[in-house]
Amino acid sequence: MNTNPVRKVLIVGGGTAGWMTAAALAKVLRGVEVSLIESDAISTVGVGEATIPPINTFNQMLGIDEADFMRSTQASFKLAIEFVDWTRPGSRYLHPFGAYGLDIEAIKFHQFWLKARAQGSTQSLDDFNLSATAARLGKFMLPSKDPGQVLSSLKYAFHFDAGLYARYLRRYAEARGVVRREGKVVDVSLRGEDGFITSVTTDDGTVLEADLFIDCSGFRGLLIEQALDTGFEDWGHWLPNDRAVAMPCETGGDGLTPYTRATADTAGWRWRIPLQHRTGNGYVYSSRHLGDDEAVARLRATLDGPARAEPNFIRFRAGRRKQIWVKNCVAIGLASGFLEPLESTSIHMIQSGITKLLALFPDRGFDPVEIAEYNRLTILQTELIRDFIILHFKANERSEPYWQQARDMAIPDSLQHRIDLFAARGRLFPTDYDLFAEPSWVAVLLGQNIRPRAYDPLVDTLDETLVRNQMHRLASLVRQTAEALPTHEAFIARYCAAS
Ligand code: FAD
Repeated sequence: MNTNPVRKVLIVGGGTAGWMTAAALAKVLRGVEVSLIESDAISTVGVGEATIPPINTFNQMLGIDEADFMRSTQASFKLAIEFVDWTRPGSRYLHPFGAYGLDIEAIKFHQFWLKARAQGSTQSLDDFNLSATAARLGKFMLPSKDPGQVLSSLKYAFHFDAGLYARYLRRYAEARGVVRREGKVVDVSLRGEDGFITSVTTDDGTVLEADLFIDCSGFRGLLIEQALDTGFEDWGHWLPNDRAVAMPCETGGDGLTPYTRATADTAGWRWRIPLQHRTGNGYVYSSRHLGDDEAVARLRATLDGPARAEPNFIRFRAGRRKQIWVKNCVAIGLASGFLEPLESTSIHMIQSGITKLLALFPDRGFDPVEIAEYNRLTILQTELIRDFIILHFKANERSEPYWQQARDMAIPDSLQHRIDLFAARGRLFPTDYDLFAEPSWVAVLLGQNIRPRAYDPLVDTLDETLVRNQMHRLASLVRQTAEALPTHEAFIARYCAAS
């Protein structure tokens, strides 16, 4: 065990990961010198616009003013993801934030809905979720703090310009003492006796020493992979998409929807993310099934308005580093691994990496037990997200070879078990480490047309009329509450105008 206390931290890379890490460390740590080195000559990945609700905790931890953050990053609110054409062309469902209805006597709400369906009801489960109902109506309002109000059940995240977010956090971090250095790292020095990193050297010969190095250098994994040779666990056999092309456009079409849209396509899927000043679009695809030119053509044909930039192609591999914290180096962001942005999980994984690092901060030196715990938790979380993403591809009824292959692939046992359990009686048992709680799994399993053969028999122990009335009342309340909200566009205009 290395018992030297950590007094100097060097973050390598200034994308979203680098500046989120710098901001959080500057806010929380005392007596530790934090620097960040980035190179203007090496661009950031330049995409990454949709988030999930825990981002609110991160911004609140920093003490950021939400309206100021929204103005600075051209943000809009996100209540859900709409999945279009995923099971088959013409299909459509929402994965909303927040719960469906209210559990009754510890029986999950969706079980009552399954019973109602079995009895012929055609009511959508979305009618019992305020985020879903507001998303469909294009409405938004901040949730109420009064748990007695239906409005308290609204859960939201943001769409934002990740480049502007990084710049915003840079100002935040620099104002709190983080030193930014400009330069390209060309060499990494390792200590002979234990292989710990001692310093990095930039192209102008500057040597930067630190006790702890945080690798935020993006896909290249400058420290964790190139210097420490950690190894990569490739998940391409489950998630074959290895390319993306991004092309923002002028606002148009459905306008400023309070949800992300993910539309399945011949050999992958397209995203549509509305921001205040533009709409972000991209096509994530498998290069074995689709050429770059065709991907761009298919993306261009679906834009809401004129393109605002040339196509930006990005290559990637699905998977993770075998270890995420090695010796005195922790990888955060794309340097640690990548899962395609279908459920907007990458920025969350940055946040989660930072939170775990702070919880296990090596202020008294590097303890192998703590390092192992960091790796165990990160790997567990990543694998659970991986399963959730694979589910979207596996359960499809589309006819193209890409989709047939996805349908026929063997999936992780952990995912197969969840599908089988749900298909029997709609039961799910997410773990504490599941980023996606039960309502999310219910949304996607049902959305992808996995219908339980029966509902939980416990439902029959409750008075049927009472339950039906309660469900009816709840759906009306949700509908009335959503209808009374301002439009998303009007809310943002008012919120962001306020000083
Ligand atoms: P990068 O942005 O690549 O930054 C790397 C940094 O390292 C740069 O500052 C660069 O200058 C620096 N650097 C590299 N090499 C050197 C060197 N030798 N010397 C000095 N500096 C160096 N996430 C979401 O949560 N939601 C989304 O909707 C979403 N969409 C995505 C869509 C696509 C197609 C892709 C590929 C990713 C998406 N992501 C999304 C992921 C998200 O973009 C990233 O998690 C996020 O931007 C963090 O990137 P990063 O900071 O790790 O790496």
